[in-house]
Amino acid sequence: MKPRVVVLGGGFGGLELTSMLSDALGDDLDLTLIDRNAFFFFGFSKLDVMFDRKMPDEVRIPYRSIVKPGVTFRQETITAIDPEAKRVTTDSGTYDADILVVALGADYDPGATPGLVEGGNEFYSFAGSERLREVLPAFSQGHAIVGVTSTPFKCPPAPSEAALLLHDHLTGRGVRDACEISIVMPFGVPIPPSPETSQALMAAFAERGITFVPDRLVRALDPARSVAVLDDGSEMRYDLFLGVPKHRVPDVVEASGMTEDGWIPVDPTNLKTRFPGVYGIGDVTSVGTPKAGVFAEGAAQVVAQSLIAELAEGEQPAAYAGAGACYVEFGAGRVGRVDVDFFSGPSPTGSYTEASVELAAEKGHFGSSRRARWFGL
Ligand SMILES: Cc1cc2nc3c(=O)[nH]c(=O)nc-3n(C[C@H](O)[C@H](O)[C@H](O)COP(=O)(O)OP(=O)(O)OC[C@H]3O[C@@H](n4cnc5c(N)ncnc54)[C@H](O)[C@@H]3O)c2cc1C
Repeated sequence: MKPRVVVLGGGFGGLELTSMLSDALGDDLDLTLIDRNAFFFFGFSKLDVMFDRKMPDEVRIPYRSIVKPGVTFRQETITAIDPEAKRVTTDSGTYDADILVVALGADYDPGATPGLVEGGNEFYSFAGSERLREVLPAFSQGHAIVGVTSTPFKCPPAPSEAALLLHDHLTGRGVRDACEISIVMPFGVPIPPSPETSQALMAAFAERGITFVPDRLVRALDPARSVAVLDDGSEMRYDLFLGVPKHRVPDVVEASGMTEDGWIPVDPTNLKTRFPGVYGIGDVTSVGTPKAGVFAEGAAQVVAQSLIAELAEGEQPAAYAGAGACYVEFGAGRVGRVDVDFFSGPSPTGSYTEASVELAAEKGHFGSSRRARWFGL
């Protein structure tokens, strides 16, 4: 019988794993990939959508494009996971696995921040970024705050990118002089593992008159008074609030009993959970890297290589390195890159490549190469 691999979640992690296994094992595999959505989109597309750099339809990539040997895609909502039995229940059926990979990402809980739903906006979900297409053009004067409401949160550069792109957006509309922009971050600098990237971002904020508020979270909004309340009790007036909502595992993951302190613990060297034959990759885990697509992808590669070695008798891969490159939008068509390494040394390190139009093209290639590899488009 062919090995039954069931991959939960068709995000960065699930798609990379599926592609690698299919490429190596093809029809010798019985792989089911399950996602509740009909479309995949890159996290960074949300910035493109909210600032009207792309239309929502341009960034949606349909899962039905996946035609890969050995792979069946099911658009279903997962309603229960039994990690002991390696059995998954969805709104349409039940799947028994020999190998189960949980790659369900992080969900959002905007309601956890009082006032955020009633008096603010979040730009982390696709729906939130689509709503902002209506909100941003109506903002022409006053104070805009980009604020993080809790940790951990996906893609630590994203709030800085949002502030810089908001500057461009307001400048393009000729209203920047009537607006203030502040960014509230839970770190002392924008990208703690990379002092150089942080310096470049701080210089970009200074040049553009963006105020950086370090070491703070936004605990609540008081829409009646138009103030954001920070975690030290201080208040900031706002006219536009762009928030990073609280992150959490999907309900179905919490109900599975796989989590500890909110996330799935895994062995960082090989992404195994404490349940035999069950792996956890990407944002749904507490592996110790930031929640970003490149890390989910790197984790998927280690699991794929390990399964290929097991199933086709090859060599086991080296331990997961926790390293990856993130692109950082600086505005004006320029993109920087930070290469970070979380597991090689005693503490995380990062190096910076200065923002340029060439790196903007490289980021474009990052997206198109994955489109080709994962979807054959
Ligand atoms: C604004 C923004 C900008 C970003 N920019 C970058 C960037 O430049 N570079 C980068 O590397 N990362 C970036 N990210 C982060 C990146 O998008 C995520 O870290 C990445 O997608 C995580 O991959 P994953 O496979 O762990 O989970 P995801 O990609 O989130 O995939 C999880 C999948 O599980 C599915 N799912 C969840 N629950 C269920 C259920 N019950 N039933 C069925 N399916 C379910 C979801 O539909 C989803 O498709 C950004 C994120 C945001 C919000």
